[in-house]
Amino acid sequence: MAVFPKPQNLGKLPSRTKKKEIPEGLWTKCPSCGEVLFNKELEDNLMVCGKCEHHMTISAWSRLLSVCDENGFEELDASLSSVDILKFTGVTSYPDRLKNYKKKTGLTDAVTSGWGEMDGIRVSLAAMDFNFLGGSMGSVVGRRSRGQLSVG
Ligand SMILES: [Zn+2]
Repeated sequence: MAVFPKPQNLGKLPSRTKKKEIPEGLWTKCPSCGEVLFNKELEDNLMVCGKCEHHMTISAWSRLLSVCDENGFEELDASLSSVDILKFTGVTSYPDRLKNYKKKTGLTDAVTSGWGEMDGIRVSLAAMDFNFLGGSMGSVVGRRSRGQLSVG
């Protein structure tokens, strides 16, 4: 039972406080729960939301460096680049798409492979990067994977 009738047509009340501007690049909004997360804490938590445990996209390099010991990761075949064997065409040509993604990501292909150490043990590692053409497999993915099996 309502004691007071619901007010009608109040409209939007004026804000008493000015909206604080949040500098870009310091915060990320979780796409799953909407929590605003401090980027440094998010990176320290390997891009997993501390509230709902949603896993966000992580670059291949971030993943590789996160699992390797402090002396890092040594990339192999960094100069390899995919070629347009199938002459595939879509909205844009495959070579143009490759060129755009190389510029956008700084990567030469969707896979990054090489050597690192985990707990002092030398290991061969490869990681796919979704940011490069959705992590799609091109000729370089096979070549870099083959290289890992034949080296060392
Ligand atoms: Zn979340």
